[in-house]
Amino acid sequence: MASNKKVLIWLYVVFIYILAFTIWWARLLFTKNQESYVEKIELLAMQNEVSKEEFLKNENSKDITKKFKRQELMIYTEGSAFIVLIVIGFVLVRRSIVKELTLAERQKNFILSITHEFKSPLASVKLVQQTLQKHELNEAQKNQLIDNSLYDLERLTGLVDNMLLAAKFEGDLSGFSLQEIDLSKTVESILKRYQVIKKKNVEIVTRILADLVCMADPAGIMSLVVNLVDNAIKYSDESSSVYVELSQTQNQILLMICDTGYGIPTLEKKRIFDKFYRIGSEETRKSKGTGLGLYIVKNIVALHKGVIEVKDNQPKGTKFIVYLPSIQNLTLN
Ligand code: ADP
Repeated sequence: MASNKKVLIWLYVVFIYILAFTIWWARLLFTKNQESYVEKIELLAMQNEVSKEEFLKNENSKDITKKFKRQELMIYTEGSAFIVLIVIGFVLVRRSIVKELTLAERQKNFILSITHEFKSPLASVKLVQQTLQKHELNEAQKNQLIDNSLYDLERLTGLVDNMLLAAKFEGDLSGFSLQEIDLSKTVESILKRYQVIKKKNVEIVTRILADLVCMADPAGIMSLVVNLVDNAIKYSDESSSVYVELSQTQNQILLMICDTGYGIPTLEKKRIFDKFYRIGSEETRKSKGTGLGLYIVKNIVALHKGVIEVKDNQPKGTKFIVYLPSIQNLTLN
């Protein structure tokens, strides 16, 4: 990271040096060309025993002036072309260094958040186990503790799944396979789990059209739904509601997840799908996350040759719409 910053500083120094050097050389050539022209005209005027002004009216001087102008133009154009090439090179190199710097920064944040995300549920599960071991608890208390542990373990599983999926998208896609699945049943069974382990007391309202079949990777589709619904809950206030709809248009299956949460500013809507990207807002900082969820969602949608849109929900919140082709003979690349 620090060495990357040094490289960036060096790039600026080298760029400014080359630019200044080029301008200085161009100016020098320009002056030399002018001086040599004036000297030549003066010498020839002297040899012809006429004044400089009179010699310039002479036909012989026209060739010399033409050659001088041509050389002047050459210095201008070649100098400008060189400067343009340097600027383009500088912009390209700078862009790739800045990109790496940003990724390194996000990776650093990811390591920090992942450490925290692993540690806190593990500590909480350990505490529950110790409590169950050391204390005499009634049935209701036991069930409450077990529910909490299940929630934490679910979070850990989701975290590991996301990391494995993100790694898969970096390599080859042979781990994925499309098969005919009943999407309606898959989505329903995922949403049922949210009813059991209620998060933030958020109510999930559903409208699922039955018997929607498509070619999909089961684990991929599950991760897509879980990541979108998890986010809808995570970035909403306590006791709000999330709306999930599964429907069909002529040749597409449409999955819509709407929340009435904090919303996503227009400028951020494109960036949220980048790997490790998290919006720098107070609401995002307050909630746990790794910035991998939507990166995975984007890749799963692409794998199924689908499209994902993110819009503002009315009157507030966010709406994610996934369009999946309902064509039966979809194959992986
Ligand atoms: P994270 O692990 O941070 O949730 P994601 O890749 O799932 O990572 O999301 C990237 C960022 O997009 C989040 O950090 C959050 O700022 C924003 N975001 C995602 N979904 C929502 C939503 N439903 N409402 C508001 N912000 C969202």
